[in-house]
Amino acid sequence: MKQSVKLIAGNWKMNGLGASLDEVAVLRRALEAEPATCRVALCPPATLVERLGAAARGSAIEVGGQDCRAEPHGAFTGSVSAAMLKDAGASLVIVGHSERRQEFGENDGLVAAKAEAAVLASLAPIICVGETLEQREAGKAVAVVRDQVMNSLPKAVLGRDFAVAYEPVWAIGTGLTPTLEQIEEVHRAVRAAMLERLGLGSAAAPILYGGSVKPDNARDILAVPEVGGALVGGASLKAADFLPIIRAA
Ligand code: PGA
Repeated sequence: MKQSVKLIAGNWKMNGLGASLDEVAVLRRALEAEPATCRVALCPPATLVERLGAAARGSAIEVGGQDCRAEPHGAFTGSVSAAMLKDAGASLVIVGHSERRQEFGENDGLVAAKAEAAVLASLAPIICVGETLEQREAGKAVAVVRDQVMNSLPKAVLGRDFAVAYEPVWAIGTGLTPTLEQIEEVHRAVRAAMLERLGLGSAAAPILYGGSVKPDNARDILAVPEVGGALVGGASLKAADFLPIIRAA
């Protein structure tokens, strides 16, 4: 990923059925009429990865998974491996989303293992980090996020296609966002931690901001130094919301 080309990735979470592919068709037509100047990806539920990939084939829309297992295969009922996502047509995968860290107790070590599994399967991991409201109010946001970056990024991502996503937990799905100054402060800290952990070779990997990115705040957020794109939840479900965010990049 070149730092100058931003990545706008949509995370559908557990939303979307076959009918949602109509939105992909709308998005596709709009991007064919006026190509995006950024990378565009959609991460639907695993059941839709293959069909969304088919709907997007030949277009600039990339497809990603929302999670993968760290192990390559085996007796893990209900799980999906990175190679399976790749096989279904994905080129990216989100790992370490706060909903997985909180609901499934995923820690930095496991997130790093999943990111490594992703690159081994030739998927670009989007590695998520972010503080809780309690941590921010205690003045620990930068320290917490720095620690997550240091421990969630495997050395294996070096020289590969990958991104880090800074998503304050309290901003996800709430309509709340940090100030632009706060976003810049954390993004600079994330970049410093990436350089410390991985060296200059990581300088081209974008740092996405995520958490209540909407058409009306996308332009300001995407103009913040070190913001290399966005990870978008709710506003990625409808082409009418997602497209203006893509246009703002
Ligand atoms: P949101 O979700 O845009 O709905 O706040 C972002 C995310 O969880 O990636």
